[in-house]
Amino acid sequence: MREYFEKIYSESENEFHELVEKNIKEENKMFIVTANPETLMIAEENSEFKRCLLDNNTVIVPDGIGVVKGMKMLKMKTEGTITGVELAKKIIQILNDESKSLYLFGAKDEVVNKLKEKIEKEYSNIKLAGVSDGYVKNRQEVFDDIAQKQPDAVLVALGIPYQELLIYENLQRFNKGIFVGVGGSFDVLSGMKKRAPKFFIRFHLEWLYRITTEPKRIGRFIKSNVRYLFVLIHER
Ligand code: UDP
Repeated sequence: MREYFEKIYSESENEFHELVEKNIKEENKMFIVTANPETLMIAEENSEFKRCLLDNNTVIVPDGIGVVKGMKMLKMKTEGTITGVELAKKIIQILNDESKSLYLFGAKDEVVNKLKEKIEKEYSNIKLAGVSDGYVKNRQEVFDDIAQKQPDAVLVALGIPYQELLIYENLQRFNKGIFVGVGGSFDVLSGMKKRAPKFFIRFHLEWLYRITTEPKRIGRFIKSNVRYLFVLIHER
């Protein structure tokens, strides 16, 4: 477990956003994993995903207070959370400022199309290289299309660990681009699903809002977080 923490980005969200901006401007390649405790627990059981997270070219950021608390428990430096939703928003804003291209892959058809419309309206400098929902028969085919287009950023919303593994398997086909697995962010950014009220965000209780509004998540949440806590205590 410690090996993940040792490579999790430890500077502030602002600094990270600046780094992403620099990489977009310089057309560098960057693969970002926004990790919560569940991400790390899945990696403990899935060796390919573990290899993906520990790869030198993978940047992991702490998406969620559970990971920040873990870093503190292990006496590691951290400047707080860097959330996937804020990161996706920031990338969209930078792409618009720089008139760069974007590919959206994932979520339900109506969700990703709503997000597409929103981007066309509010971020009209962005060149949309392609848009695909996440319920296609052949995900690799979509990635073939992405590789052909070579966009400046690729946001993949298929859930953990599928989105990260797909990016990881295809990454060598690209010579530039910011790649991020953004989980449920399209649902929020499209406006189809409400983000937690400010109070929950401010006190890092977004997870509580999510499990109360989507009770099917409770089992999954408890299973991974309780195990996570035990592993952390053991590490310490
Ligand atoms: N999703 C998808 N294809 C699938 C399964 C899921 O595009 O076969 C999408 C789903 O619509 C949602 C996102 O993947 O937008 C995963 O969201 P979730 O909130 O479960 O993300 P996680 O908690 O895994 O980050």
